[in-house]
Amino acid sequence: MNNDSMKIPQATAKRLPLYYRFIQNLHSSGKQRVSSAELSEAVKVDSATIRRDFSYFGALGKKGYGYNVSYLLSFFRKTLDQDEVTNVALIGVGNLGTAFLNYNFLKNNNTKIQVAFDVEESKVGKKIGDVPIYHMDDLEKTLADLQVPVAILTIPQAAAQPITDRLVGADIKGILNFTPARLNVPPDIRVHHIDLAIELQSLVYFLKNYPDESVEK
Ligand code: ATP
Repeated sequence: MNNDSMKIPQATAKRLPLYYRFIQNLHSSGKQRVSSAELSEAVKVDSATIRRDFSYFGALGKKGYGYNVSYLLSFFRKTLDQDEVTNVALIGVGNLGTAFLNYNFLKNNNTKIQVAFDVEESKVGKKIGDVPIYHMDDLEKTLADLQVPVAILTIPQAAAQPITDRLVGADIKGILNFTPARLNVPPDIRVHHIDLAIELQSLVYFLKNYPDESVEK
C-alpha cells in the first residue's frame, strides 16, 4: 500500500481488499452509486463499520445518495497499488501448495506466485501452471534474482521456523503462514497466520454452541 494509507487503522486496512472486490463487481455491472446498507449486505460488515472505514479515506457518502462507485474504485485501486503486481514465493509444493499454484490469484488480486520451492527431488525442476519449482538449496539465490517480497508457507510445521529464518535473511517482508507453527520474526516482518484446521474447529464450535447467531466475525 502507498504512504497515504499509513494512517488507516490496521483493522480497516484488512477490509480494503474485500471492499475493492465488491466495488469492482458493482462498477463492471454499470452501477454508479452504492449505499452503506447495500455494501454491508454484500460484504457482511455492519454499516456503521463501513461508514467509519470509508471516513478514514475521505469518501463521505451523502445521506440518501450513498457513495460514488467510480470514486471508490479509483481510491481502492490507488491505495492497494493494483497497477503493480507483487511477486510471491510458495514454499512446500504438497497438497495445499499445489492447489495454490493452480489457483489464479491475479483474477481478483494484484499478486502472482512467481516461484515455488521444495526439498523433494521428484518435484524440483517441474512446473505447476506456469510456476517453476526450485530446490530449497537455491532459495536465497533465486529470491535475490527475482525480487520477491512475500512468501506463502505450505510446509510441515517442523520446517516452518528454520525456513522463516532463511526467508528473513533473504529479505522477505511478509509471510502468509498456513502451517500450525507460531513464527518468531523481527518486528519489521509481517506474518499473517491462516490455520485451516483451527478455523474449521472454531466454526464447528460456534455451530454447536451458538446455533442461532449467524453474525460473521
Ligand atoms: P504431500 O501429499 O505432497 O506429501 P502434504 O501437504 O500432505 O503433501 P506435507 O508433509 O505437509 O505434505 O509437506 C508439504 C510439502 O512440503 C511437501 O511437498 C514436502 O516435500 C515439502 N517439504 C517438506 N519439508 C520441507 C522443507 N524443509 N523445505 C521445503 N519443502 C519441504
